[in-house]
Amino acid sequence: MKKRIALLPGDGIGKEVVDVTVEVLKTVAEHFHHQFQFDYGLIGGDAIDQKGNPLPEETIAICKQADAIILGAVGGPKWDQNPMELRPERGLLALRKELDLFANLRPITTFDSLLDSSPLKKEYVNGVDFVIVRELTGGLYFGKPSERITYEGQEAVVDTLLYKRSEIERIIESAFEIASKRRRKHITSVDKANVLESSRVWREVAEEVAKRYPEVTLEHMLVDNAAMQLIRSPKQFDVIVTENMFGDILSDEASMITGSLGMLASASLSSTGLHLYEPIHGSAPDIAGKNIANPVATILSAAMMLRQSFGLEEEAKAIEKAVDNVLNSGTRTADLAQGNKAASTKQMAEEIKNAL
Ligand code: ATP
Ligand code: MG
Repeated sequence: MKKRIALLPGDGIGKEVVDVTVEVLKTVAEHFHHQFQFDYGLIGGDAIDQKGNPLPEETIAICKQADAIILGAVGGPKWDQNPMELRPERGLLALRKELDLFANLRPITTFDSLLDSSPLKKEYVNGVDFVIVRELTGGLYFGKPSERITYEGQEAVVDTLLYKRSEIERIIESAFEIASKRRRKHITSVDKANVLESSRVWREVAEEVAKRYPEVTLEHMLVDNAAMQLIRSPKQFDVIVTENMFGDILSDEASMITGSLGMLASASLSSTGLHLYEPIHGSAPDIAGKNIANPVATILSAAMMLRQSFGLEEEAKAIEKAVDNVLNSGTRTADLAQGNKAASTKQMAEEIKNAL
């Protein structure tokens, strides 16, 4: 299979983790007889320094010619004082808009060998395996007006939670598609239907879509309860689908269940079929350039890409299995080594390649 992959390493540890992920992908290509072409693009702080723009036109062009995109991370203290339009994070927001990346997928799975890293008790997290599907381009973060106003003669403020019915439908459909391919085939749709009209429409749409997927079970849960249930009994979840702001909060909460920021992958799906894959962690300026970052989140994001964008299930599984084997053998990067001798970014990736 021949595929073009756009690589946007970005800033800080983004470069280091993307570099070694490319090595892992090359090993997969060799072993399974695929041809992957890699095209690099600038984004974030680096792009500001070199092109005066966090998302240069060339980068958009490189992405649009590709079959999938892998991103490292953007941002860092160097650009924190910049005006809004020259912030690295703007590059990523602009890319999401430009490519209509409307669905954010965040799988939350525990690794048997890392159960000690969770802040929750082992027996609560052992076997956790769910995915959060978050709407990414609508809702409260994008609705207009969003401004300071005068209301009843007083200083006031308004933000707007706006969704087109079609936007709700496509995110819920994505969640059902995903659930229908999973073993448990269960969806928890999270909302605040006891107070929000948008949530009542969300429920209506979820019920409509559910009729087309008789094999999938649908349950509704209020967001405050969901926040509690994630801690109380995370194993109950299979697929969680929710709107932008609820998803933002719940996915950060959920990422801590496993206790390892450096292990978690994500995908952002587009209506165009051109999807983006990235680790959930940021650019980690405190450890950048030291060859100590955990590359697993990015390597597992690449596995998601192989599965979701290219349909290469066997190859994706091979990467996941290799990661599992290396962890079981005791190899850890500094973030998980708990004071024991740690492997470097490159050593970790090298072991994963060998396990492949
Ligand atoms: P952003 O705003 O870009 O999401 P953040 O403020 O959430 O960034 P991160 O960059 O994700 O922060 O880093 C949070 C902490 O986790 C830092 O101490 C960082 O060193 C650590 N960290 C993040 N990613 C990794 C990784 N892959 N390996 C090891 N440590 C990491
Ligand atoms: Mg963060």
